[in-house]
Amino acid sequence: MRDRDERRARLRERVNHWASRLRTEPKVVRIQRMTRKWGSCSLTGIITLAEDLTEQEPEFQDFVIAHELLHLRVRSHGKVFKALMSVHLPGWRQYGLNK
Ligand SMILES: [Zn+2]
Repeated sequence: MRDRDERRARLRERVNHWASRLRTEPKVVRIQRMTRKWGSCSLTGIITLAEDLTEQEPEFQDFVIAHELLHLRVRSHGKVFKALMSVHLPGWRQYGLNK
């Protein structure tokens, strides 16, 4: 398998892991080129992750993945969202919330 495909496959495995851990069911998970952010979550349940994310360290991948998946449960970045992040990713604050 080519490197790129392998990195994408590994990222998808992490998404699957987190989706079940957070009890979320994204309709579709896309990995594609994104210029301004690492990920997004649509109102219709589509999670999009930046292709570049496949080259980042695993801890940061988890942060982005969990953040977007949690938006399937909580849309805003309010108290509930932050509490869930703290439960599942205690170190999330080092990455901020700029999405
Ligand atoms: Zn967000």
